[in-house]
Amino acid sequence: MPKKYKYIRRRDAGRQGTVTCENCGKIVPRHKAICIETVESVVRDPTLRRELEKKGAIIMSYPVKKCYCVNCAVFLGIVKIGGYAERLRKYGEQRVQI
Ligand SMILES: [Zn+2]
Repeated sequence: MPKKYKYIRRRDAGRQGTVTCENCGKIVPRHKAICIETVESVVRDPTLRRELEKKGAIIMSYPVKKCYCVNCAVFLGIVKIGGYAERLRKYGEQRVQI
């Protein structure tokens, strides 16, 4: 289940450098980007990998760190949109400001 995205402002925000989004290529601040670690295999095709493993082959896999912008992370289902955006969509802009 994807967890909710919460923007946490830190003291050194904006002074940490930038990262590039893996999906769309947008440059985002490091503190704002959503990074996940996935395990990737040398053999990309899952059916071929299964067949090779059945025969007793040892296939290497390595961890890969991928960073996404908020827009892409929501689209890919890594995080859900935050509470504010959810309320905004539900009730409209005027109700939220009260
Ligand atoms: Zn992106």
